[in-house]
Amino acid sequence: MFFITVLIFLFALSLGSFANCLIWRLYKQETIGGRSYCPLCRHSLAWYDNIPLLSYLNLRGRCRFCHKRISRQYPVVELMMALLFLFFWFKHLDFLYLDIDVLMVTIKPLSFWLYLIRDWLAVFIFSVIFVFDARFYLVSNAIVFPASLCFIILNLFLGASWFTLLLTIIVAGLFFALQFFITRGRGLGEGDIWLGLLLGTLFPDWGLLIVAILSAYLIGTFVGLGLIIVGRKSWGSKLPLGVFLALGAIIALAWGPAIISSYWRLF
Ligand SMILES: [Zn+2]
Repeated sequence: MFFITVLIFLFALSLGSFANCLIWRLYKQETIGGRSYCPLCRHSLAWYDNIPLLSYLNLRGRCRFCHKRISRQYPVVELMMALLFLFFWFKHLDFLYLDIDVLMVTIKPLSFWLYLIRDWLAVFIFSVIFVFDARFYLVSNAIVFPASLCFIILNLFLGASWFTLLLTIIVAGLFFALQFFITRGRGLGEGDIWLGLLLGTLFPDWGLLIVAILSAYLIGTFVGLGLIIVGRKSWGSKLPLGVFLALGAIIALAWGPAIISSYWRLF
C-alpha cells in the first residue's frame, strides 16, 4: 500500500511538471515535443534541472544559467497535483481493503478505475485551466475540447444516461452563453461558454453541476470583495472566471454528494 501511494505521488508530481510545460507551450503556441528550457533565458535544461520539486529546491528557485527567479507556480502546481491525486486515490479506495493486500487493489471492479481515471483527469485538466486563466486571462480550447470528449466517454462507460448528459451539456453551455450575451462579453469571456460545456460533460448530474457552478460564483464573489477591500482591484475590474469554475469543479467532485445531502438535512 505504501509503495503504491509513493508511486502515485511521484507519478502525479511529474504530471504536474508536464502541466507546467503544457501551460507555457500552449500559451506560446509551441509543440509539446522538444527539450525543456528555461522560459526566461531559453537555455535548454539537463534532466537533473528538470526533476519536479527537487530541482527547484536544489537550485534555490533560480535558473542555473541566467540566475533569474523561477516562478513559484512550478513547484506549487507539482505539489498540488500530487496531493490532489492522492486525495482522490484515498477517496475512492475502499478502506475495507486497506490492510489486506496490495493485490486486492488490482482485482477491484472496473468502475473503481474508471471513476479514479475520470477524477484524476479532471484534476489535471482543471489545474491547467486554473493556472492558464489566472496567468493569461484565457481559456484554451485545445484543452477544453479534448477534455470534454474524454469526460463524455468516461461518463457513458460509468453508466450515465446519454440523454441527461446531453441536457447538462446544453443547459450548462446556455447558462454561460446567456450571461455572455446579456453582458455583451464584459462579464465573462467566450472561453467561459466552452468551460460551461466542459462542466456539463463532467457532471451528468444536476446536483453536482449546481454545486460546481454555485461554489465557483461564491468563491469568486468572496475573492473579488476581498481584493477590493485590500485595494488590489476596483469595482467592475475583471476576474478570471475560469479560475473559480476550476475550483468549483474540484469541490463538486470531492465533496459534492456530501454538500448536497447536508443541504437536504437542513429541511
Ligand atoms: Zn534561465
